[in-house]
Amino acid sequence: MANPVLPSSGVLSPLGLDAVRLSPGFWGDRVALNREVTIAHCQEWEEREGWIGNFRGERPRRGREFSDSEIYKLLEAMAWADHPGLPALAEIVAGAQEGDGYLNTRWSGSRYTDLEWGHELYCYGHLIQAGVARLRTHGEDTLTRVAVRAADHVCRRFMEGTQTCGHPVIEMALVELYRVTGTERYLEMARRFVERRGLPALADIPFGRAYYQDDLPVRQAQVFRGHVVRALYLASGVVDVAVETGDEELLKAVEAQWERTVARRTHLTGGMGSRHADESFGEDYELPPDRAYNETCASIASVMLSYRLLLATGDVRYADLAERTLYNMLATGVALDGRSFFYANPLQVRVPAVPLDGVNHAPEGGLRSPWFDVSCCPNNIARTLASLPAYVATATTDGIQIHHPTPAEIRHGELAVKVETGYPWDGAVTVRALTGGRGRIALRVPAWAAGARLTHRGEVREVVPGYAVADGPWRTGDELRLELPMGPRWTFPDRRVDALRGSAAVERGPLVYCAESVADEPPLGDLAARVAPPVEHHVDGVVELEVAASLGGSSEPSGWPYGHEPDGRPSGADAGLRLVPYHRWGNRGPATMRVWLPVGAEE
Ligand SMILES: [Zn+2]
Repeated sequence: MANPVLPSSGVLSPLGLDAVRLSPGFWGDRVALNREVTIAHCQEWEEREGWIGNFRGERPRRGREFSDSEIYKLLEAMAWADHPGLPALAEIVAGAQEGDGYLNTRWSGSRYTDLEWGHELYCYGHLIQAGVARLRTHGEDTLTRVAVRAADHVCRRFMEGTQTCGHPVIEMALVELYRVTGTERYLEMARRFVERRGLPALADIPFGRAYYQDDLPVRQAQVFRGHVVRALYLASGVVDVAVETGDEELLKAVEAQWERTVARRTHLTGGMGSRHADESFGEDYELPPDRAYNETCASIASVMLSYRLLLATGDVRYADLAERTLYNMLATGVALDGRSFFYANPLQVRVPAVPLDGVNHAPEGGLRSPWFDVSCCPNNIARTLASLPAYVATATTDGIQIHHPTPAEIRHGELAVKVETGYPWDGAVTVRALTGGRGRIALRVPAWAAGARLTHRGEVREVVPGYAVADGPWRTGDELRLELPMGPRWTFPDRRVDALRGSAAVERGPLVYCAESVADEPPLGDLAARVAPPVEHHVDGVVELEVAASLGGSSEPSGWPYGHEPDGRPSGADAGLRLVPYHRWGNRGPATMRVWLPVGAEE
């Protein structure tokens, strides 16, 4: 089956790319654009930057020490997308593999001399994930043989001892290779990498061992901490190991860490990571909108983890967070033309970014760039969109569960259904039986959708957040209709989030909204919004919102930004403030932006 994650047990079973086919719509359009534009864009840049040339032995070697991994992520994207460029690129990679399976264009000749920062096992992890994708979509070929040889080399070199890699990902890759090949040593190697972490296995560094989750054994940790991508890739691998070894205690540990992290260390967009210096979470409630880091890769790692936890437990909260993250982070990370990308995703940008020619050397957010010196995010987006249909729905012995409503055809067993919806702009979701058959159909009702209604066989009933279910048998043409209430809603932060006190944001459906100001539009630095129902405007198939806000005033700032009385609201008259979906911001050129709007003192 073609799915990035195929656990041997769990409450829910994955469906493959062959079972879920997306039609034109919010995600179907993005998946098609990814296949037609983004994958080729990434390959062109990797060739131009010399990262592919490294595998041909071109010297001097170019790119960072982990640049090999970008080619592997691209190969994974090509595998899921059945892209014709894969075989030729795989041959180039194969040419650099050494006789014993070792493969790294940076460290060949000085193997494993810097496990803390060298990323050799990390690169194998992405290579193995690409190999798994190819095995599941095509079968054995050059790429899969390269990946298996590398995995065998890793097992020979690392099975004994105490070592691991500074950047996790090898763990989940090896478990998946075990799942597809049945070779138990891959699972055992992954289990050992997980258990070694925190003993400790790596050297202390100026950021501290928490940076690479080597401060505590994973079973003892209370929360995700340190470098966000490392933390979430590790947690994904831990779930995989826990599921395959039947280790309930280990699974529970990750669930508890997820719960605490979501409650205290997650931005409204689903983004994670508040510190730029070490790309880390930051402390509980440290969620500054302007200094938010929220790396695009971290959001992808979060979706990967939530999906694994959803499969293992069937708990709807994991699908809810995945939805928030997909619509407000993954969709934000790539421009509408598929050719430029955000690395960091702050929730406020005070000064319009200055366009740079070509590579963006300061990926701080503010303007999407066609490429980065560290281009993890574009390739990560490419592989995730290429495999996105896998995340849409799951199955059980008694039916299917649709977690993310988007136009699609879904087949499982004797049941085939067509999903029709204008979601996320419209809350009506129709599921129509394309064949007759038995089975229960479950539709996720998001946590924000109180008052949703389900229509089945002419009967309308209110359904609560969780899963709305309807039982067959189904005849061809039978319909199930879910109506999610899509009215805009004001959202307020927990008072412990100091950086957001006195502010509110607007959400509609799964989308977070923001104010955006380009060129000569009114500035967003000094405003106060009124907490009153926003007005909807339908513009070219997109729902924009308008709220009343005082946009600045006549008072000049004093010479000192502090005083002895609380500051009042700006003195300007109320005007309409236009809000756009956060994922669309930054597509009209350099702009200022804010998700969190100060609300007046009287509110
Ligand atoms: Zn990244």
